Amino acid sequence: MVALNLAAEMERLPPEAREILRMVGSLVEESRLPSGRLFLVGGVVRDLLLGCPCLDIDIVGEGDALSLAEAVARRTHGRLVVHKRFGTATVRLGEFRFDFAAARSETYSHPGALPEVRSDTLKADLFRRDFTINAMAVDLTVSRWGTLIDYYGGLEDVRKRCIRVLHPGSFVDDATRILRAIRYEQRLGFRMETGTARLLRRDLKMLDTISGDRLRHEIELVLGEERPERILRRGAELGVLQQLHPSLKGNGWLALKFPLVRELAGSAKDMPALYLSLLVYHLTPEEGGQLLDRLKVPGAIRKVVRDALEIKSEVSRMSSSALAPGALYRWLHLRHPLAIRVNALAGAPMVRWYLELFLRQLSLVKPLLSGEDLMALGVPAGSEMGRLQEHLREERLEGRLKTRGDEEALVKKWIERKSGGC
Ligand code: ATP
Repeated sequence: MVALNLAAEMERLPPEAREILRMVGSLVEESRLPSGRLFLVGGVVRDLLLGCPCLDIDIVGEGDALSLAEAVARRTHGRLVVHKRFGTATVRLGEFRFDFAAARSETYSHPGALPEVRSDTLKADLFRRDFTINAMAVDLTVSRWGTLIDYYGGLEDVRKRCIRVLHPGSFVDDATRILRAIRYEQRLGFRMETGTARLLRRDLKMLDTISGDRLRHEIELVLGEERPERILRRGAELGVLQQLHPSLKGNGWLALKFPLVRELAGSAKDMPALYLSLLVYHLTPEEGGQLLDRLKVPGAIRKVVRDALEIKSEVSRMSSSALAPGALYRWLHLRHPLAIRVNALAGAPMVRWYLELFLRQLSLVKPLLSGEDLMALGVPAGSEMGRLQEHLREERLEGRLKTRGDEEALVKKWIERKSGGC
C-alpha cells in the first residue's frame, strides 16, 4: 500500500469544503463511531490527485456515518436528507454535496441484479467499486489526516492514465460500468487498460441485463459530459452503441452536430433531448420507438425524439416542392419545437430554411382579433371559436387577411353562414 499524503492537495479545495472536512475529522474524535475512522472515497480522491474540481464529496465511515451527517448538518445549518433504506445521508451546503455512508460490501445474485449489501470494512467497500482510480480513500481522522489508502493500485493507474476494473467479473456484475468506463476514459483523457478493454468487449452482451432506467441514467450521464460525442464515438468503436441498438452510430456526423447543439440550444435544460434526438436521428421511427421503450424514456423527451424522427421521415415532402406558409404551419404546429430544431440542425440547407421560417416567423403568427373581440362580434365561446381562430391564422399566413378589418369581414361572413345554416 502506498503511504502518500494528500493534505497539500486538500488545501487546494475551496475553503468551505475544506472547513467541512476538518469539522468531519474533529467530529470523529467526539463521535461514537466504533472504529473512529472516516474517509474521503471515490471520485473526489481521483479528482484531488488530478487537480480537478469536485463538488460531490463522498465520505465513508467504518461504522455509524448517519449520526455524523446529522451532526455536520446541525453545525453547518446544511440541508440534510437521510436515505434510511440505503443507510446513507446527504448534506447540501451551497454548491457542495456531501454524501455520508457506512462502509459496505456488495454481492450480486445474478448479472445486472441490484447488489445485496452488508456492512463491511473500508477495504471491502473499495473493492466493490467500478475502477481502480475510483477505489482509493483518504483518511480524515485528525491524526492520519490526508493519508492516501490505495489497496488496488489506483494511484499507479492515475499516473499511467488508465482505466482498469478491479476484477474480471466486474462488467458481468454490473454492465453499467461499460458506459462508465468510456465516459471516464474520454472525460479524463485516459485509456482503457488492454485487459479491461478485452473484458468490456467480451461482456458487451451483459448490457442486456441492465434495466431500462439504469441504462438511461448512464446515457444521461454521458450526454451531460462536456463532449459527449467523443464518448459516443468511442462507444461505437468498442461496439457499445451497437449493443444498445444495431442501427446506432457514433460517427463523425455526431462530432459535427453536437457542437452546434452547444452553440444553439436556447437553454442547458434542452440539451439532453437535442443530443438524444441526434443520436437516434438515423434510425427509422420504428427503430427509434424500440430504443425509447428499451430505455424507458419519459414522456417529455420521448415526444421530442418521436416528433424529430417523424418530421425527418416526412421531410421529403418539403424538398420536392416549395411549401406554402399555411401548409407548413399545418404540418408542424403540433410538433415539439425542439424536434423541429433537431431537424433544422440535422437537415440539408433548404430543409433548415423552411424549419427556421416556421420557428422564427410562422409559429408566432396570430390573428389580430382576440377571443374577446370574437365574442363581441357574436361568436360563441367554445370549440367552434377555436376552429375559427385557426382558420383566421391560416388565412393570415397565406396572406389573404392583412388588416383587422379583413378579419372582421371574414368573421361576419362566418356568422352569417352559421345563422343561415340554422
Ligand atoms: P463523477 O465525477 O462522474 O461524479 P464519481 O466518481 O463521483 O464521478 P459517482 O457516480 O458519483 O461518480 O459515484 C461515486 C463513486 O461510487 C464512484 O467514484 C465509484 O467509486 C462508485 N460507483 C459509482 N457507480 C458505480 C458502479 N456502477 N459500480 C461500482 N462502483 C460505482
